[in-house]
Amino acid sequence: MAGQKRASGVRGETSPPQCQPRKTATATAGCVNPICLRGFYQLIEAQTGEVLATLGSAEARDGVLLVSCKDRRSSCCPPCSRLYEKDAFQLLAAGLRGGKTVPESVGTHPAVMLTLTAPSFGAIHGNRDQRQPCRCGRRHSDEDPRIGTPLDPSRYRYVDQVIWNRYVPELWKRTVQATRRGLAHALGVPRSKLSEVARVRFAKVAEFQRRGVVHYHAIIRIDGPTGADAPPPSECTAQLLTEVVNAAAETVAVELSDPMLLHMAETAGAELRWGAQRDVVALDPNTCTTAAGYIAKYATKATETATGGALVKPVRSYRQLDDLKLTEHARELIRTSLTIGERTRLEGFRRWAHQFGYGGHTLTKSHTYSVTFAALRAARASWRRAQDGQHAVIVRSHLSYAGRGYRPGRTLPLGADDVQAGLQPRSRGSA
Ligand SMILES: [Zn+2]
Ligand SMILES: [Zn+2]
Repeated sequence: MAGQKRASGVRGETSPPQCQPRKTATATAGCVNPICLRGFYQLIEAQTGEVLATLGSAEARDGVLLVSCKDRRSSCCPPCSRLYEKDAFQLLAAGLRGGKTVPESVGTHPAVMLTLTAPSFGAIHGNRDQRQPCRCGRRHSDEDPRIGTPLDPSRYRYVDQVIWNRYVPELWKRTVQATRRGLAHALGVPRSKLSEVARVRFAKVAEFQRRGVVHYHAIIRIDGPTGADAPPPSECTAQLLTEVVNAAAETVAVELSDPMLLHMAETAGAELRWGAQRDVVALDPNTCTTAAGYIAKYATKATETATGGALVKPVRSYRQLDDLKLTEHARELIRTSLTIGERTRLEGFRRWAHQFGYGGHTLTKSHTYSVTFAALRAARASWRRAQDGQHAVIVRSHLSYAGRGYRPGRTLPLGADDVQAGLQPRSRGSA
């Protein structure tokens, strides 16, 4: 039935892209809104089984242990966000220059950085360039809240923009598929045999523009058949990859199939495509570090760029929306997403209304692009233990959630990095 969770509005989409924000604990001093846990954890010497330390909330000053929020969003927690950005940089850079268990030879594989944008949904405020002011006749400062908002809200295509946000993860998926097809064609092998000669890897970050639409910044790399340790065929050059990626982005489309969605789409019609502004740049050892830093920066941003600074929690009703302090443009985007969800019974529009319809992850990557965030965090905990002269430890924990935030006298406990290691990937409370 169309109203069910897995209902889909586009042809060929089997599983609508949806995600649940993950909240796990970490431990970095400086967190502005830490998570309080009740229970205890023990650090146990892996080789000997000796209990090195036991920390329990019962002995803590306020009866709780604190671990940091680990929020990636700079507007929520600047210190945790800075650490996340550094990890995101390491993850992205390792896929371009090696390191962090990735062979350095990966730096010789062809790679490109690409920016994929949305089409226009109506004229918005913003200086056209250095010399030409905005169409409204003013020259806006960078801080002007009018930037990114419609010149004429009554003519702005809100419905099309929200639908585009909703299905941009599917458009990306098809772009990667088209890149693989294009590469197979260029190499003269059937698509089904491409993995026998080359593999396409990617990492991408979603960025919200001030107009409330998603742009993607991505890295695409070609490996040999066995992965990052093997070079691709000599015909695979950065030039070839640039051409293949450009052709893929030019041709892919997502077709809307839901009749009500088609009825509501204003002028975009039945197909969603990338906007005309596209940038594909070949990377080399001199530019890969800059590219990784550039993309990692976007990983700490969210919808606050379009809401006037506020981060919006899930919105379930129009009444809830009325109580929020937002720019009128952001309010209209959320309202539109709620309305589309109501009329089409496509749950994703209601579920992700607070993100203007976008339900994809912020940072995604191919399984074998480089390392994982969890591996980087575990390596950091291990390094800190080594600094303290400790060997490998096992964490045994039994912890449950007990609220958020500091009270006078609360501090993050020593060894809390290990709580983080112990909490992932298992849920809290396991031994
Ligand atoms: Zn934090
Ligand atoms: Zn203007």
